[in-house]
Amino acid sequence: MAIQYVDLLTIGAGGGAYPAAFRLAQAGRSVIMVDPKGAMSGNCLYEGCVPSKAIRETAEIYQSQQRLAGHGLAGAISIDFTKITMHKDAVQARRYEQHAAELAAARNIKLIQGTARLLGPHEVAVNTTEGEQRFHCAQIIIASGSDIFIPPIPGVELCLTSHDLYKPDSALKTLPERLIVIGGGYIGLETATFFAALGTKVTLLQKGEQLLSGMDPGMVTLLTPLLDPAIRIRTGVDVTAVTLTPEGGRRVHYTRAEETDTLDGDVVLMAVGRRPVIPVGTTEIGIAVTRKGIDVGPSLQTVHPHIYACGDVNGRVPLFHAAVRQSMVAAHNILGGNIPLDYADFNHVPTTVFTLPAAAYVGLTPALAEAQGIKLRTGRYDFAEDSRAQILERMEGGIQLFFAADSLRLLGGWVVGIDAGQLIGQIGTAAAHGLTAYDLARFADQHPMSAEGIGKAARSLF
Ligand code: ADP
Repeated sequence: MAIQYVDLLTIGAGGGAYPAAFRLAQAGRSVIMVDPKGAMSGNCLYEGCVPSKAIRETAEIYQSQQRLAGHGLAGAISIDFTKITMHKDAVQARRYEQHAAELAAARNIKLIQGTARLLGPHEVAVNTTEGEQRFHCAQIIIASGSDIFIPPIPGVELCLTSHDLYKPDSALKTLPERLIVIGGGYIGLETATFFAALGTKVTLLQKGEQLLSGMDPGMVTLLTPLLDPAIRIRTGVDVTAVTLTPEGGRRVHYTRAEETDTLDGDVVLMAVGRRPVIPVGTTEIGIAVTRKGIDVGPSLQTVHPHIYACGDVNGRVPLFHAAVRQSMVAAHNILGGNIPLDYADFNHVPTTVFTLPAAAYVGLTPALAEAQGIKLRTGRYDFAEDSRAQILERMEGGIQLFFAADSLRLLGGWVVGIDAGQLIGQIGTAAAHGLTAYDLARFADQHPMSAEGIGKAARSLF
């Protein structure tokens, strides 16, 4: 079998892979991307960020209209879940077309539909439906992402996963009357709020005592009372089995405080986490893999300076936008001859929990600061006083900014409530570039937009 020579091969064609692939191709390097989907964008477009937000945004519009109806500003409206899923599919199809056109227009770059495995530090085998291809690669980016973790619980096959819910032509086309969500992480909690907003009776079962474990308890405490009170949340629950009811529904068996109990629903969503996908051959060539993923530092290089691991596969910040930035870092370091000239900043990546309402954070927050012995001063802004929030009748939540107590340098922040996902980007930019409370207070942000709350939160210190 003839070996093909390439400058860069990416394992995967998602956010950790294609930005680097395009950058290197643009610089005249030969590039191969390999992905079993045969399309760019990875899981973000296939079953993650984009399709879940297509459902979320529609649910939020519906919720807003109901709120306005409650104020006598709109009449009764109805919602058609089947059409929402068609809208989701149409957005996915449109973006796949867009990416296909970008790929067709690019020179020096080819996407192979297949699965890659590492044979040696420069050797990759790709399995396709037409057989195997072999490559000698000057550089390799491992960007094989992550996959849903399925716990070994009897009857788990009776549950849906976020993949089933959000993939193109998804498994759920009609709105269930009763949904049981197993897992109180961001995927489970977001989904619980979308379906509750659309009218489903939702119960969420969480193993630990805190929802969104791993996130700052202070932010979670602000968010939790703002969630739809119709969502029944049970914490400290250990699910032991899922069975069928005589009517063909689902029965979840669980223990809680040493008592056993069951709960019936029409659909069960299993959302207990994601795991990195490690390509075959990775550890065999000496690359260190921990439980979180492939071990890399800010240069994204593995033990082999020409092999990079970007995105969910390294477990550092498993979010699409973090993967994109990491991919660009890898591209710059490849162009620099595999001697690092660019570094990823893992500490200033904005993270949004797209619940209804959303919560978002960036940088250092109080729990982390306390653990590190860093003293903070907090600037606060309450959406109850915000003009935009008042116009839209969405006055819950607010902005908190965390400054170093001595220099008043912005170290982090969170936003719970209106525009959280938008505002956190601006706060993140300020924190990543070392702005202080004085800088933020001097900037005349727009009125009547929620962003004016960032300056006001800074001014609350003076
Ligand atoms: P990230 O945003 O971290 O790049 P994604 O999950 O969006 O992660 O994309 C990873 C892609 O890699 C997915 O489309 C997945 O199917 C693909 N992939 C996983 N394992 C392999 C492999 N061995 N060879 C090629 N592609 C792979």
